Amino acid sequence: MTNSKVALVTGAGQGIGRAIALKLAADGFDIAVADLSFQQEKGEGVVREIEALGRKAVFVTADVSSKDEITAAVDTAAEKLGSFDVIVNNAGIAQVKPISEITGEELDKIFRINVNSVVFGIQAAVAKFDELGVKGRIINAASIAAIQGFPILGAYSASKFAVRGITQAAAQELAPKGHTVNAYAPGIVGTGMWDLIDERLSEINGKPRGQNLQENVDSIALGRIEKPEDVAGVVSFFASDNAGYVTGQVLLVDGGMLYN
Ligand code: NAD
Repeated sequence: MTNSKVALVTGAGQGIGRAIALKLAADGFDIAVADLSFQQEKGEGVVREIEALGRKAVFVTADVSSKDEITAAVDTAAEKLGSFDVIVNNAGIAQVKPISEITGEELDKIFRINVNSVVFGIQAAVAKFDELGVKGRIINAASIAAIQGFPILGAYSASKFAVRGITQAAAQELAPKGHTVNAYAPGIVGTGMWDLIDERLSEINGKPRGQNLQENVDSIALGRIEKPEDVAGVVSFFASDNAGYVTGQVLLVDGGMLYN
């Protein structure tokens, strides 16, 4: 009997990461649910949801800004689940501040979590793919802010532009080994991240809570806020046999906000 394919999803305790983990499980993958240790309870809940779908799952603690921790998480996933085929470098944070107020510490923090993590995740995954003789899939979290800079989200936009650059470069470097590297670029997704962005924008521009979110949603052609499941569908495609000839792409999944 051959083992099922295995995917590790970072930041999978909640939000978009959770939806991706569940969708890939429904597609037939066994899943390593990776998140920070304080998210363990939520992560174990996602593990139980995956097991209810008839797939194997484990929770692994990893701060993605640490190369050692993401490498250990990949090792644990492969050891406990028996293969390693896909990494989804999903974990990320937002910062909501005018450029003139961003501190060096804040820049370091957002780049460690949103950018260094993607490089470390790629390094750890490629080492494992090569060890196991797997042609792997690497899927990174970009954003509409990877395509266009957004005001008051300058550091976040810079970090997501960087993810786009890494995705394009890594796709070309890793193509000779048969690994593909792509990224998903969501728009306005109703998760904890947008709760925070809306709250901070309110403090900065004085609009009532919810109004900044609503104004952004009003600009979406398909006329509704994005659901984590909308993003998961694109990740499912990138992880599937149908995407075998797709690499280096950053796919907008934003309901019609940006057109490129
Ligand atoms: P979220 O805040 O709901 O969830 C993020 C998850 O990442 C949490 O479980 C958190 O614990 C985890 N995480 C944070 N820092 C981590 C670290 N250092 N190590 C490991 N895990 C860590 O956010 P979300 O909306 O689900 O966002 C997921 C990804 O999608 C992010 O990369 C985000 O930038 C991107 N994205 C989100 C939106 C949106 O509108 N929500 C839009 C575009 C892109």
